[in-house]
Amino acid sequence: MTTTIDGTALDTLRTALRGPVVAPGDPDYDPSRSLYNAMIDRRPAAIASCVDVADVRATLGFAQETGLGLAVRGGGHSGPGLCLTDGGLTLDLSPMRWVRVDPEAGTAQVGGGSQLGDLDHAADTFGLGVPAGIMSTTGVGGLTLGGGHGYLTRRYGLTIDSLIAADVVLADGTFVTANENHHADLFWALRGGGGNFGVVTSFTYRLHTVGTVGVAVTVWPVDRTAEVLRWYREFLPAAPEDLYGFFALLSVPPGPPFPEAIHGQKMCGVVWCCTADPASGRLEELLKAVEEPAPPAFHFTSPMPYPALQTMFDGLIPKGLQWYWRGDFFDGIPDAAVDVHAEFGRNLPTGLSTMHLYPVDGAAHRVGPAATPWAYRDATWSGVIAGIDPDPANAERIRRWCVDYWTALHPHSMGGAYINFLGEAEDPDRVRSTYGGNYDRLAAVKRTYDPDNFFHANQNIPPAAA
Ligand code: FAD
Repeated sequence: MTTTIDGTALDTLRTALRGPVVAPGDPDYDPSRSLYNAMIDRRPAAIASCVDVADVRATLGFAQETGLGLAVRGGGHSGPGLCLTDGGLTLDLSPMRWVRVDPEAGTAQVGGGSQLGDLDHAADTFGLGVPAGIMSTTGVGGLTLGGGHGYLTRRYGLTIDSLIAADVVLADGTFVTANENHHADLFWALRGGGGNFGVVTSFTYRLHTVGTVGVAVTVWPVDRTAEVLRWYREFLPAAPEDLYGFFALLSVPPGPPFPEAIHGQKMCGVVWCCTADPASGRLEELLKAVEEPAPPAFHFTSPMPYPALQTMFDGLIPKGLQWYWRGDFFDGIPDAAVDVHAEFGRNLPTGLSTMHLYPVDGAAHRVGPAATPWAYRDATWSGVIAGIDPDPANAERIRRWCVDYWTALHPHSMGGAYINFLGEAEDPDRVRSTYGGNYDRLAAVKRTYDPDNFFHANQNIPPAAA
C-alpha cells in the first residue's frame, strides 16, 4: 500500500524546491525508489531531490509540518535500505555530488550526496586520497557516518579519522558546521553514530598521499581455506601498514584477469593493496609469502591508479542484485572459526555470494576507543557475510546461508558489528553492542540535537531519557 500526499501539499513542496519531487503515479517513481539492494521494495509517499542546503531545509520543514516520517538518502547503498520507508518522505541528496579539493591545505570538501568515486577522482589528480570503501558507487554519506574502512585503512585509519568538519542541517532546521571546536559533541557523534543526528550537507576531510598503488589478487582452491586462513591470520596483522589485504571466499568471476580454466570455481583469496611506490618492488617482495600456505591457483599483480582500484568490483556487483548480509568484528580467527569458514566457503549458495574479512588494524588502532563512537578499536577485522544473486527466486536461499553462517561464526566474534554491516534495522541490543561503552554518550548527544527522534530511519539510537 502507498501513502499519498495531498496534491496541494505536494505542490507546495515542489514550489519550494529547485530539485524534482517524485510521487506515486509519476513516471520516474519506480526508478527513483529503486535501491542498490533490489531485495528492498518500499513505496515512499514522495522522494524530494535536494540540490542545496535550501532544498534540504525546505524538505525537512515540510516533513515536520506534515508529520511524514523522514528518511535521508546519500548513495542508497545501505544493505537494509535505510533511506526509504513505506509511506514516508525520502530526502534525496544525490544531486549534491560535488567535491572541492584544496591541494595546498590538503583538504577536500565533499557534497553530502557524493559517491566515493567522485572523491577519489577529484583528489587523485593531486596524488591525494581519503581512506574509504572498496567500491566507487558507495555513498560518502552513509559510509562516513558509520565509520568507513577500505584499502587505505591500515596506513591512514578509518574514514572518520580523516574527517575534520561537517555541515549539518539539524532536526529543527538549524544549519551548523561541526568540528573539534564548534559543536564538538555533535562532531564526535557524527564520526560513527550513523544518520541519527542531522542531514550532513557536506563533509570535509584531511587528504593523504596516495597516487598509484600496487594491487594483487591471490586465489587458492576452496578446499585449502583452512591452511590459507591459518597463514593469513598471522601474516596480515604482522605485515607493514602500507600493505593491506582483505580475505574473501568467492567464486572466480568469469573474466580477466582470471584464466578461463578457473572461472566459476569456488576459491578463497586475498585482494591486496600496497601504497608503497609500485616501482620499488615492495609488493612483490612482501607477497612471496603467498606460496607458504598452499600453491595459489592464480596470483596477479599490477600497478593501478587508486581510483581504478576503487572501481574494480563496480561491474561485478552492479545495482539491482538481491543482497542479504550480516557482519561482526573479530580480534582473531581461532581454529573453530577457521572450520566454520571452510565449511560455508565450500557451500557458497550462488556465484556472487561471498564473505570478506576487512582489516581494521594499523593506523585505525592508534585512535582510542572513546575518541570516536567506533568502540572496537581493538578489532583486527570487520567481517561481512553477503548472500548475493540477481534472481529474486534465490532470495530465501541466500538469506538462509547468510543467517546460518553468521549464527555459526558469531560466537567467535567480539560481539558487535560495524554499524554499516548490520543487515536489517536491527534490534536495539545489537546497535547498543556495536557502540559498546560509547552508546550512552551517543544517546545523550541525540537528546541534545534530536530529542524527538525525528531522524529515526537508520540504525537508531533513541534519545536518552531527560
Ligand atoms: P544510504 O542507503 O543512502 O544511507 C545509509 C544511511 O546513512 C541511512 O540511514 C541514511 O539516512 C544515512 N545517510 C546517508 N547519507 C547521509 C547524509 N549525508 N546525512 C545524513 N544521513 C545520511 N562500507 C565500508 O566502510 N567499507 C567498504 O568497503 C564497504 N563496501 C561496500 C560495498 C558494497 C557493495 C555495499 C553495498 C556497501 C559497502 N559498504 C562498505 C557499506 C556502506 O558503508 C553502507 O552501505 C553505507 O550505509 C552506504 O552509504 P550510502 O550513503 O550509500 O547509503
